[in-house]
Amino acid sequence: AKVNAELIWFNGELMPWQNATVHVMSHALHYGSSVFEGIRAYETHKGTCIFRLEEHIERLFNSAKIYRMNIPYTPEEISQACKDAVVKNGLKSAYLRPLFFLGDIGMGLRPPTDAVADAMIAAFSWEAYLGAEAIEDGVNVGVSSWNRLAPNTMPTAAKAGGNYLSSQLISTEAARHGYTEGIALDVNNMVSEGAGQNLFLVRKGVIYTPPSSASILTGLTRDVVMTLAADLGYEVREETIARDALYVADEFFMTGTATEIVPVKTVDGLPVGTGSRGPVTKALQEAFFGIFDGTTEDKWGWLESVE
Ligand code: PMP
Repeated sequence: AKVNAELIWFNGELMPWQNATVHVMSHALHYGSSVFEGIRAYETHKGTCIFRLEEHIERLFNSAKIYRMNIPYTPEEISQACKDAVVKNGLKSAYLRPLFFLGDIGMGLRPPTDAVADAMIAAFSWEAYLGAEAIEDGVNVGVSSWNRLAPNTMPTAAKAGGNYLSSQLISTEAARHGYTEGIALDVNNMVSEGAGQNLFLVRKGVIYTPPSSASILTGLTRDVVMTLAADLGYEVREETIARDALYVADEFFMTGTATEIVPVKTVDGLPVGTGSRGPVTKALQEAFFGIFDGTTEDKWGWLESVE
């Protein structure tokens, strides 16, 4: 197994990894008809907790709604299954991947209106997406030649499997050019997001991030950072960002569940600010990781115990 998840929750039951399989004629495999989430469970000062579980499950069901998928479970059942997947695998911290998909419902682009989605949840260990050292050292990124999805093509508010073909083009192109990650512009050539991360700039003490109209997935980590930043007294603006603003930013960082908060060291070969992690990025990282060790008070009820 390339992914080490011993017990996988599949259509209502936890089963051994090798039993959680699908048929080659699954609709999702042919046409991309799946929606999913990426969630983290942390070992915290009050035991193992899933971070913002309720909001992730809400986004999952909203993604399914956009694609008119029938889900035979309630959000509460899926939330409980997420907790079970962590506990029954004996994990203290984990990455969680719930996925709804159309299985063996027949071929053709118009799923029967009564077709019911399959559902799975895997919980497994997944270290920092861009590498453990990236949290402090930062990464080198480049602007991609691939634009993000246009709003009238595929909705970026849905975290749908098919959207990640765009992310794969962006990320693999970046790797070919020697970058750790790629940054995409939207169809208006304004800054959108990374292959799997939202973006933030800091200039003269003010924090900027592209608005939801810039073809982004409105990330939960993005929301966490905006909330923590406001709490720390920073001004945060959701504002359209032009490519050149990346080059003259004092700080630039990326956020995501898998990525957490990672500073950008260079963009298109130009150093960001001093070329090392800036003070605002550092303060936000400390506030973020502080939620898990208790040095940041969880005023928002973001930690949900798996017990
Ligand atoms: N944009 C894209 C395209 C993503 O895949 C992700 C990761 N889910 C994000 C942004 C960040 O979202 P979140 O903070 O909710 O993980």
